[in-house]
Parts: sequence; C-alpha cells; structure tokens
Amino acid sequence: MDCIFCKLANGEIPTATLYEDDEFRVILDQGPATKGHALILPKQHFANIYEIPDETAAKAMILGKKMATAMTKALHSDGFNLVQNNGEAAGQTVFHFHMHIIPRHNDDTVNVGWEKHKVSSERIKDITDEVRKYL
Ligand code: ZN
Repeated sequence: MDCIFCKLANGEIPTATLYEDDEFRVILDQGPATKGHALILPKQHFANIYEIPDETAAKAMILGKKMATAMTKALHSDGFNLVQNNGEAAGQTVFHFHMHIIPRHNDDTVNVGWEKHKVSSERIKDITDEVRKYL
C-alpha cells in the first residue's frame, strides 16, 4: 500500500514532529490553515473512523486534548478546532485516519463553518427515529 500518511507517521519521510509515542505521531501540516495547524496520525493504517478500533479512537481524542492544551499555551491562541473528516463527501483527501488541530485567534479569517438551515420538528423526529434504529 502506498499511503503518504503511513510514511509520515512511521518516519519514512521526515516531518516536523511535535509529539510521538508508540501509536501516534503529531506533525505540523505542510499546508496550514493557521500558524501551528497540526495533524494527529495513528502509526497503523485505518482509512477512517469507521475502521479505527474504539481504543485507538479514544486515545486520539485524549491526544487531541493534550496537544490543544499545550499548543494553546505555546501559541497564545484564543481557541482551536479539532477537525476529523470521513469520506470524500466530508472533505477527506488522504484516506488514513487523521485529526486536524487548528489553533484559532479572535482576529483570524479562517472559515471552519457552515450555513444554518431551518428544519421542521417533524423532520427532526424522522431523523431521530431513523438513526436510533442503528444504535
Ligand atoms: Zn496509511
């Protein structure tokens, strides 16, 4: 398999590594949305959140908290986005599970948002019923 994130996570390609342990590497993104934009990469290949084991997903979130806390102090950010895309429709471009840590400042112009739509209470009930069937 020729996966760029496998190579980055496992040190086959040099990276600006902020953190590393047995299961993860955190690197600076080469096309950052903001100063300090980083990626949490598991060293093992999982395409997306559907494939990642629960324990690894939990560790990724805990690592997200650890990194965001340290980066907020180091970079004096006012907040951060923790972004995790699954599937091309959701903007995933590299099909190796990853989480973006995007430090934010009050005056930055980065847009990690969406337009809000109106929804009827009937439609909300339909969606709720449909999703609950699979839980
Ligand atoms: Zn991979």
